[in-house]
Amino acid sequence: MVKRAEAKGAGELRAALRAAGLRATPSRVAVLGLLSSASAPVSHGDAAAALEGGGWDRATLYRNLLDLTRAGLARRDDLGDHVWRFELARGHDVTLHPHFVCDECGEVSCLDGAVVVMPRGAAAPRALRTGGVEVHVKGRCDGCA
Ligand SMILES: [Zn+2]
Ligand SMILES: [Zn+2]
Repeated sequence: MVKRAEAKGAGELRAALRAAGLRATPSRVAVLGLLSSASAPVSHGDAAAALEGGGWDRATLYRNLLDLTRAGLARRDDLGDHVWRFELARGHDVTLHPHFVCDECGEVSCLDGAVVVMPRGAAAPRALRTGGVEVHVKGRCDGCA
């Protein structure tokens, strides 16, 4: 289940898509709206379940998720279980927020407000400078503790 906060207005979502160079198709608007209101990263399966009833097939929704990622509106992470999860790219910074992954049930949540300081010297992998890395914090979630 995707926990959702208040969704952004469709006009705002369409404007964000156009600003990123994408056509504002109804399914892209719906997918971006889902990501912008989700409180944790969303898998393709989560998105298909949450947007069921919109009349879009799963392949379309998957392409939309990839479109948003390529356009820089979303980022995707593999949290170690070989499932891509998508979330809104927050601003244009490369600041990482870590993800908490429960060892027991696999629940994933964003640790907003936690700051990860990466070394940026020449000895560090280039991916640290371009944001191509992920930080995972593992442990038991409250439900499993
Ligand atoms: Zn758990
Ligand atoms: Zn996150």
